[in-house]
Amino acid sequence: MASVLRRMLLLIFSFSGARGQVAWQPERAWLQAYPVDIMFRNRILSIFALLAACVLYRTVAQAADQRVELCPADPQITAALMQVSAQRIQADIEKLVSVQTRLTLSAQDPDSIKAGHGIGAAREWIKEEFERYSRDCGGCLEVKTDSFTEAPAARIPKPTVITNVYAVLKGTDPESAHRIVLVTGHYDSRNSDTFDVSGIAPGANDDASGTSVSLECARVLSKLKFPATIIFLTVAGEEQGLNGSAHFAKFAKEQGWNIEAALNNDIVGGNRDPQKDSGVVRIFSEGVPIAATDAEVRMIRNLGGENDSPSRQVARYVAEVSRTYQTAVKPLLEYRLDRYLRGGDHISFNEQGYAAVRFTEYREDYHRQHQNVRTENGIEYGDVPKWVNFEYVRNVARINAATLASVASAPAPPTKVRLQTKELENNSTITWEASPGNPSYEVLWRATTSPEWENVQPVGAITRTTLPISKDNVIFGVRAVDSQGHRSLAVVPQPER
Ligand SMILES: [Zn+2]
Repeated sequence: MASVLRRMLLLIFSFSGARGQVAWQPERAWLQAYPVDIMFRNRILSIFALLAACVLYRTVAQAADQRVELCPADPQITAALMQVSAQRIQADIEKLVSVQTRLTLSAQDPDSIKAGHGIGAAREWIKEEFERYSRDCGGCLEVKTDSFTEAPAARIPKPTVITNVYAVLKGTDPESAHRIVLVTGHYDSRNSDTFDVSGIAPGANDDASGTSVSLECARVLSKLKFPATIIFLTVAGEEQGLNGSAHFAKFAKEQGWNIEAALNNDIVGGNRDPQKDSGVVRIFSEGVPIAATDAEVRMIRNLGGENDSPSRQVARYVAEVSRTYQTAVKPLLEYRLDRYLRGGDHISFNEQGYAAVRFTEYREDYHRQHQNVRTENGIEYGDVPKWVNFEYVRNVARINAATLASVASAPAPPTKVRLQTKELENNSTITWEASPGNPSYEVLWRATTSPEWENVQPVGAITRTTLPISKDNVIFGVRAVDSQGHRSLAVVPQPER
């Protein structure tokens, strides 16, 4: 900064003619038009210029200190992302498509599984894949199923066994292992008729693509160790009414699981439509939380908290991680729960009070979702692998893997984060409780109209800070940072009087 200031001063003196020379020809012409003492005017000009330079220097210096900058990349995570493979993803999607239909109501008896047909065959194959990854990492994954019988409902004509398959990469730090970050996709599929138990329903994009993201993240990240726990989940029953994820999320809540973030990938195939933007993936996140109590909704309304649900902090985190790891596909944050007329498995987690977001390709092709495979009036219908862009799925999987690894490497977010509101004042005092491991903290803030964090102030390993910024004009967040620069999710303070 000092050299910048030096250069500015030199520039000012050379332009102002403070040494009795008028070097700048246009200024000279201007001066000649007004008969005043040139030396006097130039001195006045140089004083004003100096003042302007000081103001500019201060502003630039402050901005340099406080702008949110790129977090450092973890070389271990960078190396893992290189292992995410489009060939592996293609093989996973083609294998899932090969069972012909994965309708939740389709066959799951031993003979069908043996013949490789129906949802039972898909379920067993996913389980075997997770087990294979676990063998490759010395048994590091616990492979589990969450199986239950769903009672008849609108899209479930008779009691139906639904099975979620998942793998747990247990955290290595006893103080952090209870912290969970989760990735999910639904392995069930459907065609035009949601009761057609035997017709072809390839579901290559919807949602073998999302299932392959869970699988590929498990394969790659199981080679590493993280302080916190990662769960790689694949669910069924999505097309019949989010049944699998609803059961899993409810079970997690009953068990008191501390899921910090759930990433749902549904339709991330990046179909090969010419109007497709293969550089973007949408991240949907709820605004006012579905699980908020009436009192919480009142507070959100009073204080402008509509844009700061924990799910939205996850979305911002995904965007920041994507910048840190310079992923080829960029997240586009969509500040809504889901698309019009649609829903997905992240909502099941939101309903249980967990932070969860949905990844979906930028532009969907409705000819290739929930359609029988056919050609009509020259239009090809059906969700077959030839429309899936496997490179795109790989790039989406990389964003997921980077996010999972970053959350699982970071310290726990600060708890009981409070903004002191006892006094009417223009300073803001924020307090919080320390996370285990004595991390440092950063206070983030942004204008109330800004979509992402704009400023950051590192404050060290303390639990109380006062900033000369009015809480009425900005939104604050606090996050924990370890010595290697891993950042936790941000927590927005609650007011305390
Ligand atoms: Zn889907």
